[in-house]
Amino acid sequence: MTTNTTPAEDDASHDRTVPTTDGDRDGDPHTNPVASDARTAVETDVPSGASVHRCAYCDRPFAEESYLILHRGLAHADVLSETEREAFADAYAEEEADLGRFRIVALGLLVLLYFGFLFTFAVVT
Ligand SMILES: [Zn+2]
Repeated sequence: MTTNTTPAEDDASHDRTVPTTDGDRDGDPHTNPVASDARTAVETDVPSGASVHRCAYCDRPFAEESYLILHRGLAHADVLSETEREAFADAYAEEEADLGRFRIVALGLLVLLYFGFLFTFAVVT
């Protein structure tokens, strides 16, 4: 499901998609191929020269395949095939594990900073 652009498509301008979710939240969500969910209604941008992974449902560009897999699961969950659904579940679990590791490292750094200042204060005063 990865599609790389040809060199002709990698022109100097960035590959940019602006979500079209302004003020259409009252309508039927299935009429708009771009999901109106706030989690997916963000602008995506792929630097020129980088490989592009395009969503087959709404044509939005993504820099990494895992971003595309996560986008498909969040924005097009109702039309995914079984293999796409499994790929989303795997990518979601991996993202959750990464977030868990980040939280532990951030907490460790805060504790180090706290005790660093505390011992510095105890030695200086
Ligand atoms: Zn999409």
